[in-house]
Amino acid sequence: MKGGEGRKTPIQSGNLPPAEADGKAHTAAVEAGAEPSRGILDPGLRGAEDEKESALRPKRLSEFLGQDRLKENLSIFIRAARERGEALDHVFLLGPPGLGKTTLAGILSWELGVDFKVTSAPALEKPKDLAGILTTVTERTVFFIDEIHRLKPAIEEMLYIAMEDFELDWIIGQGPAARTVRIPLPPFTLVGATTKAGMVSSPLVSRFGISLRFGFYEVREIILILNRSATILGMDLSPGAASLLAASSRGTPRVANRLLRRMRDFAQVFGKGRVTEAVVKEGLERLEVDRYGLERHDRDILRSVIEKYGGGPVGAETLAISVGESVETLEDYCEPYLIQAGFLQRTPRGRMAAPLAYEHLGYRTGNADERLLF
Ligand code: ADP
Repeated sequence: MKGGEGRKTPIQSGNLPPAEADGKAHTAAVEAGAEPSRGILDPGLRGAEDEKESALRPKRLSEFLGQDRLKENLSIFIRAARERGEALDHVFLLGPPGLGKTTLAGILSWELGVDFKVTSAPALEKPKDLAGILTTVTERTVFFIDEIHRLKPAIEEMLYIAMEDFELDWIIGQGPAARTVRIPLPPFTLVGATTKAGMVSSPLVSRFGISLRFGFYEVREIILILNRSATILGMDLSPGAASLLAASSRGTPRVANRLLRRMRDFAQVFGKGRVTEAVVKEGLERLEVDRYGLERHDRDILRSVIEKYGGGPVGAETLAISVGESVETLEDYCEPYLIQAGFLQRTPRGRMAAPLAYEHLGYRTGNADERLLF
């Protein structure tokens, strides 16, 4: 599972807004030189959406399994906003990739009965890219920006005004003749998602009224998700197989769904189509996924810390280079689970292998030279 596996290009789901923009704001901004929306309407941006993944994506809150506390609070906020007929407050979603941030944003639009627009911060290169989307938002639209920690400063400034005053600052003309016009926008809900809370500027964070943190799912929650997905895919998944798979899914629905589809392949080719415990055992072995959900790549990271750096501490950049990975993938995708599961520790001086890493990989605790046969 390498670079970008946990990331995705912007996608859409839920109720699509009309392709053509409506309202005066759009006309004014386009006349002033803003580009039409590049969000979900741009086929280039959503081309990478995995159709199979999309079939498994819950559309309503009742289909969104696990994360009970977060869901309970959210359903209260949704109900209150609906009853008042107001746009939901802006929502900030934090957590590692694959835990359901994009899914939840789509669900919000569904539950609120409003339009849904999606983009990601790296796709917003110039202020006019953001203006192009903002000018097409309709009343109470849910506007999702993924990877919001990667917004460019000029775009972030524009977003502040849009979030706070529901207005768009737009500059017409150039040089001394340039002037700023303020274009009113309908009230909307910005949903910003990030894997890196620490990299989002505090002025931006403070503009979100609702902040929700995603934690890894418990095994029993992943079992529910696997069973739901198996039903949608028309698969026969035995309870034992579901438990085994769930334990190896690193608490992440996206990983669980991906493993499930691979098990379906193995069951089809090697068995009679039924995904049994035996199929899962064999399948996980073939994929080199162990009982903790670690892949070869994760084990390489741990071995590297233990063998090359005496168990650590080692800096993220040095570690990333030693395993041939980008710091971003290491930090965003691999580390959160390794830390949460107790294999790795993050200290001010760098990463350290935890006793569980030595034990799991067959070293005598704390001594890389004395590796047991594994
Ligand atoms: P993120 O935006 O956090 O990276 P996604 O929202 O893209 O994660 O979720 C990845 C996939 O995992 C979705 O397509 C969906 O099928 C599945 N998924 C995520 N959360 C849940 C959940 N709570 N219940 C069921 N399926 C989920």
